[in-house]
Amino acid sequence: MTCPLCTAALDRTTLLASGDAPELRGFACPDGHGTFLPSDLYFAWREGREPSDASGALPASEAVGDVKQAKLCPQDGRIMRRYRTDAEGFWLDRCSTCGGVWFDGDEWDATVEAGLVERLGAIFSDAWQRNVEEALTAQRWDDKLEAEIGADDLARIDAFRAWAWEHPQRHLVFARMQERPASGAEE
Ligand SMILES: [Zn+2]
Ligand SMILES: [Zn+2]
Repeated sequence: MTCPLCTAALDRTTLLASGDAPELRGFACPDGHGTFLPSDLYFAWREGREPSDASGALPASEAVGDVKQAKLCPQDGRIMRRYRTDAEGFWLDRCSTCGGVWFDGDEWDATVEAGLVERLGAIFSDAWQRNVEEALTAQRWDDKLEAEIGADDLARIDAFRAWAWEHPQRHLVFARMQERPASGAEE
């Protein structure tokens, strides 16, 4: 197996070792470019931990991610697809052929810290990627409003909006908002 960034041979490594739980093994670039987790080692580890939850095979879903900076799978040389962990998170590269996952730099540690190791299968699902896409769309809309309206005015609007949505007669509040004020009507 070779590093997708420098093509050095990957070293065997222990990715997770905690108490009585079985170790999670993988491979790492000797120059610190990242970590590779083959899907068979991942599922062997998950089955060892949670025999009842062995059904979570990595779904063969199509990636939402783009292919720029595409990396080649250390295991079989296929192009890996990129997936976002969340709207503000990092990208993971996953091989659609063998299911192996590449973690750039310290992303493996970030994945462990975020408690996402158990949920790796879910990250690559259509549902997860759709949620990320929706969160990104909402974030872009907020950013656009802030840029066009200004942060202070947007904060005022949002405070009013929060109050209005709690109002028992909010449809009247919204109707009133649609009416042009008489004093400001002259052009
Ligand atoms: Zn490398
Ligand atoms: Zn592969």
